[in-house]
Amino acid sequence: MSTPKPNFIVDSMLGNLAKKLRVLGYDSKYFSSIEDDKLILIAKNEKRMIITKDEQLTRKAEKQEIGFVLIRGSDEVEQIMQINAKINLGTFVIDTNNSRCILCNGNLQPVEKYRIIGKIPEGILEREKKFWMCDSCKKIYWEGTHFEKLQEFVAKLNDRRN
Ligand SMILES: [Zn+2]
Repeated sequence: MSTPKPNFIVDSMLGNLAKKLRVLGYDSKYFSSIEDDKLILIAKNEKRMIITKDEQLTRKAEKQEIGFVLIRGSDEVEQIMQINAKINLGTFVIDTNNSRCILCNGNLQPVEKYRIIGKIPEGILEREKKFWMCDSCKKIYWEGTHFEKLQEFVAKLNDRRN
């Protein structure tokens, strides 16, 4: 990709979309409740594109010359396509080394098994080879079945691009 990865701030109505963007590796701030003015200020200071369903918020963003995508509908594939229409996101991939924590948007770092003994169920510890830990909230990730479902989602996204 020639353009740098965009950073986002996702409004409170779009929590699931924020999670998907984080899995895809996009730095996406999200607050379950935040005033418009505060959201605009963060977008401006941190050069984040606003992702919202709120037309009023997009008008405020426009006045301040902040980039935004007005999201319509509830289908997450379509929602990401709406972002892609405004700013080319390139090929979609899940690379856990680039993914962000779905809970807090922190960076994921590979973590050795011995460091997480007792922190996750033993069966998972035995079955899985690679683990990652959020450097902010310390949530532990592994590929597992959850990851397979997300791969299907990514395949849908890439189908829609073509
Ligand atoms: Zn986290």
